[in-house]
Amino acid sequence: MPRPDQNINPPPTNQIAPYVEELLKKNGTRGEKAIEAIQEDRVKQYRDFTVVVGYHDEYIVEGEICTCKGSEYNLQNDTDKKCWHLLAVEIAERTGSIDYHDMWYSEVRDLL
Ligand SMILES: [Zn+2]
Repeated sequence: MPRPDQNINPPPTNQIAPYVEELLKKNGTRGEKAIEAIQEDRVKQYRDFTVVVGYHDEYIVEGEICTCKGSEYNLQNDTDKKCWHLLAVEIAERTGSIDYHDMWYSEVRDLL
């Protein structure tokens, strides 16, 4: 009598370095959002841009600059408090978790 296979797919154990925990402590919710985005492959590297897919929109991250509003706010105040998109990219780069797409974001998104 065949038994239904229990299809248990444990999430991939991301090698999250201790520094990420530190980062979580420092950044709270933003750190959590960043980790979540990475785990869901929402940090994407295109040929031209690095993009973080948020809940309502996608944001382009270039170096220390993000296209979201939070970033502007952050830049004016404490540079240590980055928006979670910047955090996500930073963590993804360190942990090698960037979802790489061999295409141009400008073409994907039809940026004018
Ligand atoms: Zn941002």
